[in-house]
Amino acid sequence: MRIDATAAIDHPGRRYPFALEQSVAEFASLREARFADSICVQGEYWAEQGSVLIQGNIAARLDVRCSRCLDPMQYPIEIDFTGMYAREEDVEECVYGLEGKEMGLDKLILDEVSLAMPAQFLCMEDCKGLCPVCGVNKNHVSCDCDTSSNGLNPFEKLKDLF
Ligand SMILES: [Zn+2]
Ligand SMILES: [Zn+2]
Repeated sequence: MRIDATAAIDHPGRRYPFALEQSVAEFASLREARFADSICVQGEYWAEQGSVLIQGNIAARLDVRCSRCLDPMQYPIEIDFTGMYAREEDVEECVYGLEGKEMGLDKLILDEVSLAMPAQFLCMEDCKGLCPVCGVNKNHVSCDCDTSSNGLNPFEKLKDLF
């Protein structure tokens, strides 16, 4: 996803609205998540002292798995963001590089989405997860396994490793 900022650079201070939508085939997966469908990015950008500032909103849905029961699920993401694109010689940390007079948005989008991803995904707030004994998904099936602490601690086996 790219924006040609030539007009903005030629007219510092003037604000340029934009709205882009891109299907996700060109994006690599991030962590164990993938974009479910197209990513929508909209907002405005303007030039200031040789840099281009951009602010707006990213909306996307991620295909992920529930961290507890491992069922596939979708996670909607909606992020407000601001970013700065500077000429290559002025690029520092947290600043993206202009390519000529173009802004490449892919890295910014991936950075913002990675930051917005929670440490774990839950298909529902009270997801019952997998039975530690027989492995069934306890949201769908109930089982009669004895999950009291007697030797059934899933970490018990790990102790032998140390
Ligand atoms: Zn779940
Ligand atoms: Zn069970």
